[in-house]
Amino acid sequence: MIVLGIESTAHTFGVGIVDEKGNILADERIQYRPQEGGIRPRESAQMMSERGAFVISSALKSAGLTMDDIDAVAFAIGPGLGPCLRTGAIAARFLALRYSKPLVGVNHCIAHIEIGKLSCGFDDPLVVYLSGANTQIIAYAGGRYRIFGETLDIGLGNLLDSWGRVVGIPFPAGPKIEELARRGSRFIPLPYTVKGSDLAFSGLYTAAVRAVEKYPVEDVAFSLQEVAFSMVAEVAERALAHTEKKELLLVGGVAANKRLQEIMHAVAEQHGARFAVVPMKYAADNGVMIAWTGLLMYKHGCTTDPAEPINPKFRTDAADVCWL
Ligand code: AMP
Ligand code: MG
Repeated sequence: MIVLGIESTAHTFGVGIVDEKGNILADERIQYRPQEGGIRPRESAQMMSERGAFVISSALKSAGLTMDDIDAVAFAIGPGLGPCLRTGAIAARFLALRYSKPLVGVNHCIAHIEIGKLSCGFDDPLVVYLSGANTQIIAYAGGRYRIFGETLDIGLGNLLDSWGRVVGIPFPAGPKIEELARRGSRFIPLPYTVKGSDLAFSGLYTAAVRAVEKYPVEDVAFSLQEVAFSMVAEVAERALAHTEKKELLLVGGVAANKRLQEIMHAVAEQHGARFAVVPMKYAADNGVMIAWTGLLMYKHGCTTDPAEPINPKFRTDAADVCWL
């Protein structure tokens, strides 16, 4: 069984091709980069509509396959930015109808989880999913991927990117902030907001913006990371204690951060859980994770009607998990 998957939720148009054993036959991507500021959804979607077809064609070429070899076409149906999701969905629907292939609409967040499980050899982890737009603590329980804690306002990556923009770091700001933070030493108290099992980052953002008027930017970067990551660690630890999972998996673009990895590793160790970080190649958005999750779904009989609309607010815990 071979599945082609299309990712187009925000900044990346990615096409992956995988087989049933989890072999990756193709992984092609292009990324939209704003000239300044953050992502403009329509600009990103325009880039995707102009260049997406070439990405699909080069994925097939690099796998040495044609559409005849593909058993199903998967795409990210949500959550994400409407114009971007729609562009990928049109491409997927066209391929499915033109070549008479089943179509599979994949939840993007769950795809981050499934590619993490595949590449780290995990079965049933507590997942800490930290990306630009999403911040969720997730575990499989009672037939679904349940959310045990999440941000009530902006995503952790978004916090870093927005603060970065204020201090002159272009998108994506995470890596540069990590570097700055390594040079900081003085801890500046900033608002720490955990509400039950949920998090809020906007107060922290405002305080960190004000702090650069008084303190060296390295010290603010250091303190911002320490506070934000400690908040995540607190809710992750609570979920780990509650679910008693024996694996802790870190996924999403922010997972690249070494200081964050160190903190989460310590949390896992204290609870006797194995710890892994999704390989950097698959931490960011990509088509492979959509293809792999689509394959799991298709193998278990879940397909999507080509008339089904995209779902920009598709929640992790709203998806039917037919393959577990
Ligand atoms: P994603 O939305 O999953 O594609 O991830 C992108 C987000 O990851 C952006 O907000 C980046 O700033 C963030 N990011 C990437 N590398 C790092 C890093 N080393 N430390 C913190 N955040 C990072
Ligand atoms: Mg993502």
